[in-house]
Amino acid sequence: MDTLPAENMRQHHQNFIVDSVTLLSSNPPKPVSGPLSATFGTASGFPELQFFLEPDGEHSLHFDLRTAQLFRLGEVQSLCVSEGSETIKEKTYSKGITVQFKEEEESSSFHDAFEQWKKEVVIQGSTLPNGTVSSSKSKFDDKIEASSAKMYFHYYGQLLHQQNMLQDYVRTGSYYAAVIENQADFAGRVVVDVGAGSGILSLFAAQAGAKHVYAVEASEMADYAQKLIAGNPILGQRITVIKGKVEDVELPEKADILISEPMGTLLVNERMLESYVIARDRFLVPNGKMFPTVGRIHMAPFSDEYLYVEIANKALFWQQQNYYGVDLTALHGTAFQGYFSQPVVDAFDPRLLVAPAVSHVINFTTVKEEDLYEINIPLKFIASVGTRIHGLACWFDVLFNGSTVQRWLTTAPGAPTTHWYQLRCVLSQPIYVMPGQEITGHLHMIAHSAQSYTINLTMSAKMWGPGAEQGGILQTSSCRLDLKEPYYRMSQPQAYSVAQDQQPNQLLQTQDLQLPSLDEDGSDFIQQPSNDSSVQIH
Ligand code: SAH
Repeated sequence: MDTLPAENMRQHHQNFIVDSVTLLSSNPPKPVSGPLSATFGTASGFPELQFFLEPDGEHSLHFDLRTAQLFRLGEVQSLCVSEGSETIKEKTYSKGITVQFKEEEESSSFHDAFEQWKKEVVIQGSTLPNGTVSSSKSKFDDKIEASSAKMYFHYYGQLLHQQNMLQDYVRTGSYYAAVIENQADFAGRVVVDVGAGSGILSLFAAQAGAKHVYAVEASEMADYAQKLIAGNPILGQRITVIKGKVEDVELPEKADILISEPMGTLLVNERMLESYVIARDRFLVPNGKMFPTVGRIHMAPFSDEYLYVEIANKALFWQQQNYYGVDLTALHGTAFQGYFSQPVVDAFDPRLLVAPAVSHVINFTTVKEEDLYEINIPLKFIASVGTRIHGLACWFDVLFNGSTVQRWLTTAPGAPTTHWYQLRCVLSQPIYVMPGQEITGHLHMIAHSAQSYTINLTMSAKMWGPGAEQGGILQTSSCRLDLKEPYYRMSQPQAYSVAQDQQPNQLLQTQDLQLPSLDEDGSDFIQQPSNDSSVQIH
């Protein structure tokens, strides 16, 4: 399979007869008289223009159309120049060639073809050798800083990070099960894999009998995906890898179903859900399916004295008054706030939760892209114990609403640990609650151009004890965190299992068990995953 061109460009080439060419890169410039053949094609895996300098086709000159430019020097004469390219064997520096046609008409149609092929390259989302994509700014580029995107796609371009995700067996196994159990949704269907990475989900979709899968991947991983797919030829013949952003590439046909793994920490980190939604609007047939279909963020207050002390102690360094004769205390407050602005990522014991969770539902089939720019979730809990609350614990799950089986992938505390772990926002000022007391607040998340969110958390509880009845005085604590800068409290995935003597934790059940029906025909497809059967991997 070709890495780049989509179906409509696959076996396509276009031929022109050139009267003569002059190689400007040789000294002195070397004229070669024709007639010679100039061919637009994709034989090297990317669109190119090839001049055959000898009739037997032995000696040829290639121009990578992703970088080449064509200038008109006269009615029948043009100049073609190109930057050097690593993929072209014979030259790695820029080169130029003047091209002479017999007729003006021939010259004009060559120019038209050149522009057409170049334009097709841009809309196919071709990646230039230096890693930048197309000249026109896309929806992605409008909202995401170039430096953030560069680092992001560099990260995903590395096989070790794809391996890390593949080795999260809860994650990959859930996707596999969701696809294989719902073959009816894939068999004979056109599938788009949004952010294909290694191409694993495309291969699953092909296993389930997909008619054709378009694997769209923006990072250099697209080339490895191509290799992996070529190494599985029976499945691979139904997969086309397209290197580019889902915001930019064009596909030759609409998809019946999208498959993607766009979830980041707290579901929304990385802002890839927005790309998933854009892919829906660009590629999916009306009422097409999306795997996953729905995501939910779950939140509950927690009490964890150890964690609180651990974070506060990190700033103790700045309380030294004589650090090599220097008083550091002027920066203690800043350091203290700094540590509390990092959300904590780790797997925690669900017994730390002090109230049943609330949840926020995002229906991927209907949500607007803009709705993900700012997410404001009201919080309301009833404390089940008297304790100090140190913040808000968050996790998420996603639903694959298959026609045959509805499967959840959960990252809940107490469930098998995933590479997402859970996330906790820690308040620098804990709040005290009595059993049965109401805790209110907001989790307000604002997207930023570094592919993440600024989180503002506010939690309040009515004062208890003398005076509480009179004024209804609130103890309020708030914090601002950057989801982009988490504190990874553990470095390796650790299996967490609920202790033998412990009953499944009641607090994991969300309060709003009556979730609104999300599908069009009103059938209530969302079922709460039960604690012990939410993820079964076969
Ligand atoms: N589907 C793979 C990889 C998931 S990671 C798997 O399940 O194992 C998400 C992938 O999406 C990354 O490889 C990343 O480079 C890619 N990606 C993120 N945003 C994208 C976009 N806007 N267009 C295309 N690919 C994107």
